[in-house]
Parts: sequence; structure tokens; C-alpha cells
Amino acid sequence: MYDNLLANVPTDLYIGGKWRKSSDNQRFDVIDPATEKTVASVASASVEDARAAVDAASIAMEGWAAKKPRERAEVLRKAFELIIRDTERFAKLMTIENGKALPDSRAEVAYAAEFFRWYAEEAVRNIGEVSRAPSSGARIFVQHKPAGVAVLVTPWNFPAAMATRKIGPALAAGCSVVLKPASETPLTMLALMPVMEEAGVPPGVINVVPSRRSGPVVDAMLKDPRVRVVSFTGSTEVGRKLLHAAADNVVKPAMELGGNAPFIVFDDADVDAAIDGAMIAKMRNMGEACTAANRFYVHEKVHDEFAKKLTARMQALKTGNGLDDGVMLGPLVNADTREKVKALVEDAVRKGASVLTGGKAPEGPGYFYPATVLDKVPDSATLLREEIFGPVAALQSFSSEDEVIRRANDTEYGLVAYVYTRDLGRGMRVSERLDFGMIGLNRGLVSDPAAPFGGMKQSGIGREGAHEGLMEFLETQYVSMTW
Ligand code: NAD
Repeated sequence: MYDNLLANVPTDLYIGGKWRKSSDNQRFDVIDPATEKTVASVASASVEDARAAVDAASIAMEGWAAKKPRERAEVLRKAFELIIRDTERFAKLMTIENGKALPDSRAEVAYAAEFFRWYAEEAVRNIGEVSRAPSSGARIFVQHKPAGVAVLVTPWNFPAAMATRKIGPALAAGCSVVLKPASETPLTMLALMPVMEEAGVPPGVINVVPSRRSGPVVDAMLKDPRVRVVSFTGSTEVGRKLLHAAADNVVKPAMELGGNAPFIVFDDADVDAAIDGAMIAKMRNMGEACTAANRFYVHEKVHDEFAKKLTARMQALKTGNGLDDGVMLGPLVNADTREKVKALVEDAVRKGASVLTGGKAPEGPGYFYPATVLDKVPDSATLLREEIFGPVAALQSFSSEDEVIRRANDTEYGLVAYVYTRDLGRGMRVSERLDFGMIGLNRGLVSDPAAPFGGMKQSGIGREGAHEGLMEFLETQYVSMTW
């Protein structure tokens, strides 16, 4: 079924605009999580290959940074159009390597491409300022220069969008990049490279080095003085390691890390709208999203209605191979992820949670886990503290605004929180008291290329998207002058 699609996907390293094997000829397998079958064998970059990629990026950067902003913008704009042209091909490829159902994959292609359109528009808005020093009267002239070669490290849950969200602003700023995609899902980015060439990206401006040896490969790049930015999306655990590694050479970090999103439904909420929002916030990408609603707090007056309606909607989702018609829920990405979800549910049930639907993994093949709703989840359940990263909704009830804010904030994460209420005053009051970088107020989706995406506390440092995302790849230079 995949042969036609996979036949044209490159599987080697992409360095300096050329495809090459790894220096020690190592490769690793990519598995389709719906069938557990190997679908491709990809070159696994060595430390030597990583250095070669930084060499290529460094050579290419001078010419790229010197291009007029409009020229860089037009390359990005063309890339946006080409990705949209190829939506179906990219969507199917993502479903094969990640498992997500085709509607999720198609939505991701559109979202991923949109970062190139947005940053095509931002590339021409690198604006500085001039002012007069209050005491000396000298002119303070401020401009923003491309920061240098950027190392980009991305996770498997959004194989396209997490990378374009970094490549777009980096290229707009005039930086060149070395991208290390997740080992579970390297194919999407490899398949994108011929498209980027067609859009006009010169050799060496984007390099892609999949690797099973992520630690040493990324470390070696961060030790190279030409690397000035590390932009990482992934777990807080790996983010901490990269922050340590970045410290040695004082490399500028941008970190998009884990989340533990509360989803709060007040008694004055439109419950049907809250259910629609919950289905997106919880089930987009099978719950494998950093923005996934992890803890549902539902006011005691509407709790039973919400639980009943959510259970019905979850039961109606068709599960299966994400390539099949009508399937909304594909498999999880790998066996470890499914084991983790299973263990978290078992722990909650052992401690007293009741299962309203789901809760039992089917026999293989495929790393499937059913849509699950747990009610009356006790505070001691581990899944209230850790990212579930699966299709499991954990419900609790609450009675007062102060109580729910305290409980929602009681986490080391601070990525996103969702709030449903018809009272906009309450919505804004509660939003301001929530320690989260993003709030979905009567919305189950916050991701938008035009908005600053990012977290507080241990969910990250810096922002992606919006104008702020561009600034992550720029350095501010000030010239003190007089004439
Ligand atoms: P992960 O941290 O395991 O891996 C992310 C990337 O880091 C992969 O490319 C991996 O190969 C690489 N990596 C792993 N160990 C490394 C090391 N020692 N040194 C250098 N690189 C290393 O995360 P994952 O399992 O791929 O993705 C899931 C996590 O990503 C979740 O925690 C999720 O919340 C987070 N995430 C965050 C955002 C966000 O924007 N905040 C978005 C998507 C995913």
C-alpha cells in the first residue's frame, strides 16, 4: 500500500544540498505504528556527519544572510505553496511514520506550511530603532543581525510543524540550520528537502541529520563555536540536558518543553461548546500533544452532564489504521508510549478512579489504545502530575474559583490552560491568575503561527510563532554614534 509513496522519499543525510550515507554507514529502521512493520531504513548521522553539517551550514550562511529580505521571503512563500500543493503526499507520509489519522495529518500539513507563509511576511519586518541617549545626547542605533548557525531538534508528535516552526523564522532571520528530526519520524523532513530546493533554498542553508545517536551528535554541534542558537522541542527531561550542554559555549536556547494542561469548565459554561473544545484539546493527535488537556476540572453542577456527553463523543470515535477512511484515532507512536499510557491508567484505577469508557489496550498488531474517560480521579493519581500523551481524559470536579485556580497552578509545567465560561469578566480574571504561557478561553485550540507559542515555568524558554519567534534567531546590536 505504501510502496508508491515511499519509493521517492530520500533516506540518507542531507548535508550541503547533497544526499550522503553516514560516515560509518549506520542506519536505523522507521516503523509504521499501525502495523509494526518496517517501512524505511534511514542513515544514522555520526558525530563526524554532524560536524560536516555545521561546516555546510556555516559556509552557506554568509550568502543567505546577505540576500535581500524580500528574496528570502519569496523563497519561504514559494515553499508554503509547494507544501500545500503536496498536502496529500505529506499527510500520508506522516500517518505512516507517526500513526496519526489522516484528518490530523492534513491539518498538520496546513499548520506546518502556514509557518512559512507567516515568516515570509515577517522576513521583511526586521525593524530596528534609533533614539537619543538622555545624558550624552549620542544616537542609539539598534539593529538585529542573524544570530548564526542554528541547531534545531524536534519531536515525533508533529513531524512537520515542529520543524517548520523553527526553519521558517531561522531562514527569515538569515540563519542557516542543522535539523535533527526525531528518530521515530525522520521521513517527513527528508521528503521536504527536495521541495525546499524547488522553492529556491540554496545548498547548505538547511541540513538534515537524522540519528539514533542524538546525545553525542547534538552535543558535538553545541560545542562548535559557529553554532549560536539551539532551538529544541521535546520533553523537559531532554531540554534540561540541552540547556546544560548549551551553557558551555553560551549558546542561545529556545526551549519548547512538556505540558500538563488543565481544562476548566465553570458552571456557567456552554457545556456543548466545552465538549467540542475538549475533543480538540484532548484528542487532536490522539492526545500526543504538548498542548493536550491533561486534567479536566469540571464544576460540580455540570460535572455529570459533561462526563456523560464526553463519554458518548469518545465512544463514537472510529479507531484503526490512520490511512483508512473515517478513522479518527490511529495508534500511538510506539510500544513505550502505549506502555506508559497503560501504566498511568492502571495506576489511576488502582487508586480509585472509575472507567467510563475505554481503559483496555486491544491485542496487536499496532500500538493502539482506545479513547478513555476516567472519572473521580484521586489527587494521588500519577497522571495528574505527568503528561499522559495518549487518548485518556481524567475528570475531577470542583466547587469554587479560588480552589480550581490553586489546583490548576499546582504543577511545575506552565504551557497552556483551557477555560470555559460564558462570563468574559471571569474568563479574563481567571486567565490572569493562571501561570500558563497560553490560555484557550472558550477555545480548545491555541496553536497559531501568528501567536507567540510557549510556556512558563518548566514548559520552556522563549516563544515560537508571531514576531517573537523571529527574534529567537536574531541578535541585537547597538551602535552608539555621534555626527
Ligand atoms: P524527546 O525529548 O524524547 O525527544 C525530542 C528530540 O530530542 C528528538 O529528536 C530526540 O531524538 C532528541 N533527543 C533525545 N535525547 C536527546 C539527547 N540526550 N540529546 C539531544 N537530543 C536528544 O521528546 P519526544 O518524545 O520526541 O516528544 C514528546 C515531548 O515533546 C513531550 O514532552 C511533549 O510535551 C514535548 N513537546 C513540546 C512541544 C512544545 O511546543 N512545548 C511541542 C511538541 C512536543
